[in-house]
Amino acid sequence: MPELPEVEALAHHLREHAVGRAVTRIDVVSLSVLKTATPAYTDLRGREVTGARRHGKHLDVECGDLHLIVHLARAGWLRWSDDLPAAPPRPGGKNPLALRMHLSADDTGGESNAAPRHAGFDLTEAGTKKGLAVWIVADPGQVPSIAALGPDAPALDRDRLEALLTGETRRIKTVLTDQKTIAGIGNAYSDEILHTARLSPYATPARLTADDLDALFDALHGVLAAAVDRSVGQDAARLKGEKRSGLRVHGRTGMPCPVCGDTVREVSFADKAFQYCATCQTGGKPLADRRLSRLVK
Ligand SMILES: [Zn+2]
Repeated sequence: MPELPEVEALAHHLREHAVGRAVTRIDVVSLSVLKTATPAYTDLRGREVTGARRHGKHLDVECGDLHLIVHLARAGWLRWSDDLPAAPPRPGGKNPLALRMHLSADDTGGESNAAPRHAGFDLTEAGTKKGLAVWIVADPGQVPSIAALGPDAPALDRDRLEALLTGETRRIKTVLTDQKTIAGIGNAYSDEILHTARLSPYATPARLTADDLDALFDALHGVLAAAVDRSVGQDAARLKGEKRSGLRVHGRTGMPCPVCGDTVREVSFADKAFQYCATCQTGGKPLADRRLSRLVK
């Protein structure tokens, strides 16, 4: 799932390439992604893209006083093109394209171009579990999952983080990924933050020492800032899907921990898994896994 760094990179790309262009057409291929009916998506036509920003893991394409809000969910992505096909896309069973936004070739106010090309972007979603969601609203706060967001992760100072974790008895992994507690962090970057902070994913926040909190605070900001730098540098919007690099444990089950060389382990659930290093994070003891560590011993 795209998390804060990837969504930030997409917003960055749109600020550089989409702002100043007018919306010329929107092709909705998958009606089920649209979560709002009023305003209609056709109301965006003719409006200028005036900004792009992030709310937690949501992307906000600002078009004057209307916002196209996107949540990419598990397998959604935004792909920019300087030359979109003019022909309307055909809905098809396996077609990952959900929505296409065409933008004007020139900055508004520019001179007319003889052969305008359709720049713009595609919202795509791979796989069968559909979660991609799009809202068109006058105020981002009208999107329920945005209204419920906790403080944005990069805005957290040490005191605020401590206050959020005081008395918290859920597992730290759960708390870090709960968007209502802290916005922007998901499964991948919580794995990375906890590994960097040398904390067990199952640690109880209320019992963290001051040193643990310092380590967590530094890891949270360090991991996210480095990931934003990498993601923006990758020009995420021109990639076909998220391509994360620089991860130390997430998605690396069975590979060596880059810090200590121990084998990265995983705990898996019905539909997802997380990774950690026992030597770095849990005093060498593997965490309980219902599958009895089938993948790594
Ligand atoms: Zn390690």
